[in-house]
Amino acid sequence: MPDKVIPIHDAFRTLPPAPRYDGAALADTRGRPMRDLRISVTDRCNFRCTYCMPRAVFGADYKFLPHAAILSFEEIARLAGIFVSLGVQKLRLTGGEPLLRKDLPRLVEMLAPLGADLTLTTNGSTLVKHAQSLKDAGLDRITVSLDSLDEATFRAMNDADFAVEKVLDGIGAAADAGFNPIKINMVVKRGVNDHQIVDAARHWRDSGHILRFIEFMDVGSTNGWRMDDVIPSAEVVRRISEAFPLEQLEPNYAGEVAGRWRYRDGAGEIGVVSSVTQAFCRDCNRMRLSTEGSLYTCLFAQQGHDLKTLLRGGADDDAIRNAIAAVWRVRDDRYSEIRTAETAKLRKVEMSYIGG
Ligand code: SAM
Repeated sequence: MPDKVIPIHDAFRTLPPAPRYDGAALADTRGRPMRDLRISVTDRCNFRCTYCMPRAVFGADYKFLPHAAILSFEEIARLAGIFVSLGVQKLRLTGGEPLLRKDLPRLVEMLAPLGADLTLTTNGSTLVKHAQSLKDAGLDRITVSLDSLDEATFRAMNDADFAVEKVLDGIGAAADAGFNPIKINMVVKRGVNDHQIVDAARHWRDSGHILRFIEFMDVGSTNGWRMDDVIPSAEVVRRISEAFPLEQLEPNYAGEVAGRWRYRDGAGEIGVVSSVTQAFCRDCNRMRLSTEGSLYTCLFAQQGHDLKTLLRGGADDDAIRNAIAAVWRVRDDRYSEIRTAETAKLRKVEMSYIGG
């Protein structure tokens, strides 16, 4: 849990007179609109991926948030509605492992009527059980993380002795429930799973699903990140192209996180998320709501803004809308553009808490 969550009122104090939200399109100091909200519904996870929640830190003694501290579904749904009224078009449920949150389909049901694109990122471990109820509740899309198809490599990375096949079954269940295409996230770490890049491409070609390679990032401050461990997306594309020629595609929309490439032989497309080697801060339109109701304007943030106190203190929707707008208007984050070996050592908020 971060030690620096500043009260939302402080965000106001730092502003040239706290502006009321006037209904105009919201832009930050770099002219970026707010379009995408990531909602972390739990800080807990049943995996201990070495690059995200290393067991040495997130072990048996780690204190996760108590239930009373985390936002209820009603609170999340109310905030999400306010975000949508401010221009957010996409809501992503994440964590931690979102499907560990009890009754998650009920939250999906509450969010679906807002009309935003409603998506979920999961490790897939319980999708066999939940895929159909998520679909029935109104979830639009699913992204599943799967870092390797090789049993030993995958088990070493998830550090929870979890089998590849169970995740593949989960992806199958999601496809059967009608989620198509499914995005498959593969974080690539040099010397750990980069020998699996072409195998993964081969496996998911022609499946209709979209494999996305993510550069290993210096999120949080516990994963021992080093630039040497990053495989640049350009290298991923080169390695795959040698086996299966690729050509670049236009983004689907401005601010799309993944660069798109398609197989020249028509076997589908892949994505590459290059936040280390080709920062996309310039188009970043994402806000993050942590499990306990703090707002973060950057994945690499060192501090958030406490929205929960306002929420539980009886503030009306207008007051909350103004507070969110105030935070967005002063946003100037561009961490990935200014990353150095030194900034990588900063005490940043953990991804499991802020939402991946
Ligand atoms: N538990 C869910 C899952 O596994 O997808 C959602 C949360 S997880 C934090 C979201 C995504 O962030 C996953 O695809 C994960 O692989 C990715 N991720 C976590 N730590 C990362 C890091 N250091 N660099 C790049 N991606 C990371």
